[in-house]
Amino acid sequence: MRYVEEFRDPTAAKALLAEIEKVTKQIGATKEKPVHIMEICGGHTHAIFRYGLDRLTPEGIEFIHGPGCPVCVLPMSRVDECVQIAEKPNVIFTTFGDAMRVPGTKKSLLQAKADGADIRMVYSPLDALELARRNPDKEVVFFGLGFETTTPSTALSIQQAARDGLTNFSVFCNHITVPEPIKALLDDPYMMLDGFVGPGHVSMVIGVHPYDFIARDYGKPIVVAGFEPLDLLQSVLMVLTQIRDGRAEVENQYARIVPEHGNPISIAAINDVYERRPSFEWRGLGEIDASGLKIRDSYKAFDAEEKFGIGYAAGPRVVQEPDGCECGAVMTGRMKPTACPQFGKGCTPEMPLGALMVSSEGACAAYWQYGGRRAAEPAE
Ligand code: SF4
Repeated sequence: MRYVEEFRDPTAAKALLAEIEKVTKQIGATKEKPVHIMEICGGHTHAIFRYGLDRLTPEGIEFIHGPGCPVCVLPMSRVDECVQIAEKPNVIFTTFGDAMRVPGTKKSLLQAKADGADIRMVYSPLDALELARRNPDKEVVFFGLGFETTTPSTALSIQQAARDGLTNFSVFCNHITVPEPIKALLDDPYMMLDGFVGPGHVSMVIGVHPYDFIARDYGKPIVVAGFEPLDLLQSVLMVLTQIRDGRAEVENQYARIVPEHGNPISIAAINDVYERRPSFEWRGLGEIDASGLKIRDSYKAFDAEEKFGIGYAAGPRVVQEPDGCECGAVMTGRMKPTACPQFGKGCTPEMPLGALMVSSEGACAAYWQYGGRRAAEPAE
């Protein structure tokens, strides 16, 4: 497969691994005193385990799995609010499939659907828009979820709904941003991070400059990376080389896809439709300033929170997590998924307790899928 196989070439991978080993030694990183590299994006977490890069790289490198899986960081309160909207009479609630099984306080969207709510899986917000056109007597709500990667498509659907004069379409907006949680993690005195592998898809939209503060203000290197094994190995090598040389810069390993200044059309759509919320709640991380997007007043008619008087529009909410869930500790790198007492016992992909086990991009699901389940099995 052209443009894929060359990024999985074993000879090139061996050469990169040899170089990584050399630089790791030069830094003096060991199993006991490792260098901590956070891959922010859940897609990178998945790729690291899928290709066994955690085992191929030296023991002196410890990957910390960051908060870059939008389903995983969705707090229970927002799932509850989805269910609240979906269970209203006359509502068709539409969502991407991976959000269906995220546990709420009482039920997930899948359970609400089994209980009779009209909840439908869609592949794009435009599918939801089409449903609204075909069902003028129903209120069609789209569950807008995700980082800057999916934010523009929701914005474009709202703009289209406004142009079409649709009055029965709205968005329950849970779009969030990447730079703010990174800042929150860097401000945490207990975090020990030496560098970052930056998200590829998000950066396609926002470019590389929103990460400048990481290098400038915190003195940490960040390398925006692609998703193939050679992309990731090269990015890890670039981070290590910066550490060895005493540099802290924003570098772009994924320049074949990520433009330095992002995608101007997407950025214009985002700026037209959304404004920053003062703060937004993240599962495991709590409230983070300016990390969530709200639909602007000029598009208020398409804001499901306003339409149904739910969520932040209804006032302050209580943050809740399921008992025994260690998602927050895993997401901040304080705990490996296999160390969570629920891993493989009270929490499996079939019966998830925490969101990190639901999404294919979640760290716990990645550990489970790529061999971690052995750690949960009792010894023979
Ligand atoms: S195993 Fe389940 S409960 Fe434990 S951290 Fe992972 S997702 Fe959360």
